[in-house]
Amino acid sequence: MTVAVLAVQGAFIEHEQVLEKLGVSCFEIRQKRDLEKPFDGLILPGGESTVMRKLLTDLELLEPLQEKIRAGLPVFGTCAGLILLAKEVEGGLSCFGTMGIRAKRNAYGRQLGSFCTTAEFAGIGEIPMNFIRAPYIESVFGNAEILSKVDGLIVAAREGNQLVTAFHPEVTEDTRVHQYFLDMIRAANPENGIS
Ligand code: GLN
Repeated sequence: MTVAVLAVQGAFIEHEQVLEKLGVSCFEIRQKRDLEKPFDGLILPGGESTVMRKLLTDLELLEPLQEKIRAGLPVFGTCAGLILLAKEVEGGLSCFGTMGIRAKRNAYGRQLGSFCTTAEFAGIGEIPMNFIRAPYIESVFGNAEILSKVDGLIVAAREGNQLVTAFHPEVTEDTRVHQYFLDMIRAANPENGIS
């Protein structure tokens, strides 16, 4: 299995390190010709969603990636990556707009924007969660389902092959959310026995 990591801005290296730790090969998407290589899943890292949106547009990556996601490519967005996938964004613009969630940017305010906690994640159990100027999900709609809440606010969701977390699992030692994503990729490709 090969996972592509969007590497135009933000915390992409941390995701690559987790994938390496899990023995999964990965490469960076920085420009259009990187899309010529085959990949089975895509990670959209944390960073600044407004900057990433602009770079995705300028580099002509937005439409081809959006097409792949619409066609069922498994995708995992953390923090700013969550905002990129959301159909509705409060305090910002939608980018790929492929997932039935309404995201609220910088939702915890300046002081509370960054914090660590632990909470239940559906199908995994209790996991550590690091929030860094994080959004949260105000609501899910369509086929999107809630996977985790912290203090009553939605912080993780899934819709088909799309997974999002408002927190950053890549900055903790716990690799279970990435493993969950790798299981989604395997389930999406039963015929070619991806491992
Ligand atoms: N506040 C950022 C945004 O709106 C997200 C922060 C992050 O990815 N750590 O894009």
